[in-house]
Parts: sequence; structure tokens; C-alpha cells
Amino acid sequence: MDELKLLADADARGLRYVEGNATRRVFPSNEAIAALDAFDESLPVSGLPAEDTLSLLDRIGSPATTASNGPRYFGFVIGAALPAAAAVERLMLAWDQCASTFDNSPVAATVERVASRWVLEALDLPRESAVGFGTSATACTLGALATARRTLLARQGWDFDRQGLMGAPEIKVVISELAHITVKKALRILGFGLDRIVYASVDNDGRVDAARLPPLDDRTILCLQAGEVNTGEFDPFAPIIARAKEAGAWVHVDGAFGLWARTASAAALSALCEGIEGADSWTTDAHKWLNTPYDCAMVICRDAKALAVAMNSDAAYLSASADAQKNLTLEFSRRARGIPVWAALRTLGRVGVAAMIERHHAQARRIGAELARLGYEVLNRVVLNQVLFRCETDAQTQALRSAVQASGETWFGGTTWQGRPALRISVSSWRTRDEDVEALVQLLASLRGDSCAP
Ligand SMILES: *Cc1c(COP(=O)(O)O)cnc(C)c1O
Repeated sequence: MDELKLLADADARGLRYVEGNATRRVFPSNEAIAALDAFDESLPVSGLPAEDTLSLLDRIGSPATTASNGPRYFGFVIGAALPAAAAVERLMLAWDQCASTFDNSPVAATVERVASRWVLEALDLPRESAVGFGTSATACTLGALATARRTLLARQGWDFDRQGLMGAPEIKVVISELAHITVKKALRILGFGLDRIVYASVDNDGRVDAARLPPLDDRTILCLQAGEVNTGEFDPFAPIIARAKEAGAWVHVDGAFGLWARTASAAALSALCEGIEGADSWTTDAHKWLNTPYDCAMVICRDAKALAVAMNSDAAYLSASADAQKNLTLEFSRRARGIPVWAALRTLGRVGVAAMIERHHAQARRIGAELARLGYEVLNRVVLNQVLFRCETDAQTQALRSAVQASGETWFGGTTWQGRPALRISVSSWRTRDEDVEALVQLLASLRGDSCAP
């Protein structure tokens, strides 16, 4: 096998796939899905040719992808892959670096340090913070919450690393009624106990209601969110964080996609983030709204040392260096996930990131307005990039969802909002042009007659 020939073949296939991004079915056809049976082989006793393996993946696999790297995919907040970020990923693959420390990869450590600085600048978060580049907001939230608990316990004089949780002072967690499922997952894994979580009530728009905030003290972790998955809403950070600080609580913000609103200069978007810089830790994804390839996320912690000692994987106890990524995330051996973030920020610049976020916001507002005009019930205020809507009856909502997904023209998913089925459109691909938004609206106009007729 000729390695270079094989890699060139892979590159050529990848290029053909990207070329077809704008025109391929957004969700695979039933035939393409049925053809996936071809992968159901038994484990070969002796290896099969690499050329044949690559070709099988492309021939059967490529048609069974969702076109989330295209312009007409509106499911969840998935984002596409910016050309610069995708390009550096290809080079990184050739390097195959284990980016745990400077010694393992001087270039990775250097570029990720620059990326950290730029992320803090772009998001306007405290410049002394540590930034760990991890696999997902889920994993990064787990790291942040572990850091929060360890720090609050240390303030109570408890040595979590040596004594663990047996007999430790209880640390309480307060989260929004609408906190993301992965925040609950992180809390459950960390042993907080789902039945012990205290829920903060939300208002009609889905924001934590500052007037009904549960009691907070110096043994409380409060999780707020920037960008609720259904509505895109932000909790009112300024008043709530002020109260939490006064009580000595730790505030964590889940800003998986929403935190990027902080980069925008449009007043409507920056107002959402007011006071967010007062928190102690934040998580955000790059693979969603910053449009880097999967998987790439960040944990940001104001007290750099606190994150480094909690995630410490240096041999010496209590002396973790916040300069090594292996001391900032769950991973020890890792890819240099910060490099695609660096490439995205370097090629977009501050203005470019803000313009992308503002464009998606405007496109979502337009979709919301058009859907309302068509007689759909729009359920949220469209403050960000999410449009939540439904038809008159649940059956009509389900029928519309099926018709859209079967069309292959676009894709968005369903959710449950206030106990009833709803549909959710997220605008987050750098490739989505106004024409794509127009086509989406036209499709929903034509289907309004068929599946959603009163
Ligand atoms: C997607 C999402 C998460 C989880 O992020 P992953 O990177 O998929 O782990 C957490 N919170 C919110 C609000 C999200 O949208």
C-alpha cells in the first residue's frame, strides 16, 4: 500500500464531498440508510486492503450522512466547519501530535496558548482565566463543576483530594428548571445526586426568575445558562450573579452556543450577556456556533490555579501548571483542539465572528417573522438563533416535522415545549445564506397548506 496515494485518495474524496455540500439531500434517503447494511461484516481474520476500506466508507457512508456541514441544515445548533478550521485539522492529522504538554508538542502548546488568549478577548472574559480545550461542553462542564466543588470545600477547610466526599460538608447545587440535560449528567456523574439538585424557577420566557431564586450560600454552586436549547434565552446574569457573589456561592455558566453572543456588537445581543463576566467559570463549544469541526469545546475558569489543581495530572500533588492542557481538561493524551479555534479566530477576526453571530440572529428573526405571517404559532421571542414553533394541533406539528424531514430539502428537529410537541429551527452554519433561509420559508409556506392546515 502506498501511504501517500491512499491519503491523496482520501483528500480527493473529502473534496468531492465538500463540493456537494450545497446540493446533497439534507437527511439521507431511505435507500442510503438501507445500504448501511453493507457495513455489517464480520471482523476480518486477515486485514482487508486500505483502498477498499476507504472506498467502502465513502461509497456507502457519504450518502448516509446528514448534511450538517451544508447551508440548509437547521437542526439543533450543530454548526458547519469553517474552511480554515477544517484545513488546519487536515494538517494536524498529518502531525498526529499528543498535545498534552510543551515537551510533547511545542507547536500545539504555543498555538493553544495564543488561542486561549484570543478566546478570552473575543468573549471579553477575565483575562487571568485558564482556558482548557476539551472534547465537549459536557466534559468541560464536568471539569468546571468538579473545580467548583473542590474550591468551595477547600474554603470550608476540607481537603477533597485526600478525603474525598465521605464526611465532607454538603455542597448544594442550584440549576435552572431548564438546564441542559448534560449539566444534569455531569452533576450525576460527580455524585451530586439528582434528587438533591435544587431547581431555580423560570419566567415565561424560560429565564431563571431572579425574584424566586432559591437561597444561596458559600456552599452553593449556581449554574446559569447563556442560550437555552429551545428558546435561546439567557438568564439575567447581572442581578443574579451579584446576589450569588454576596452569598459566597460559585457561579458556573453553561454557554455551549450562547456565549458567542458576547462577541456581537449589536446592542440586542450584547445586552443578553450583561454581567456574565462576573461568573467564576464558563463552558462553551467551538464545534457549535464557532463552526470548528467536531469535537472541540472550552472550559474557562477565572481562578486558573483552581482549575489546574482540580484537573491536575502532574505527578506532584498541588503543584499543577495551568500552562499544560493536560492539567485543564479531563484528557491526558489529546489532540490540539485549540488549533482549529485559533484558525477560526485568526481568519474571522473579531469583526468576522461578530458578523457571523449577528447574521444568524437576523436570519432567525426573519424566519420567526415569516412563520408568524404564515400562521404558525411562534413560541419564543427569537432573541438569539433559535426559532421555536408549532401548528394548531400536535398531530399537525408531527406531520409537518415528518414532511420536512422526508423532503431532503432541509432538516430541523422536534422538541417538547411546555408539555406539547414543538419544532425548533437553529441557524448556526457559516454557509447559510439568505437564499437558504428564503428556501426554508418557501418550503414551510407550501407545507402549511398540506400538513398544517387548520
Ligand atoms: C449542546 C449543549 C450542551 C452540551 O454540549 P456538547 O458539546 O454537546 O457536550 C450543553 N448545554 C447546552 C445549552 C447545549 O446546547
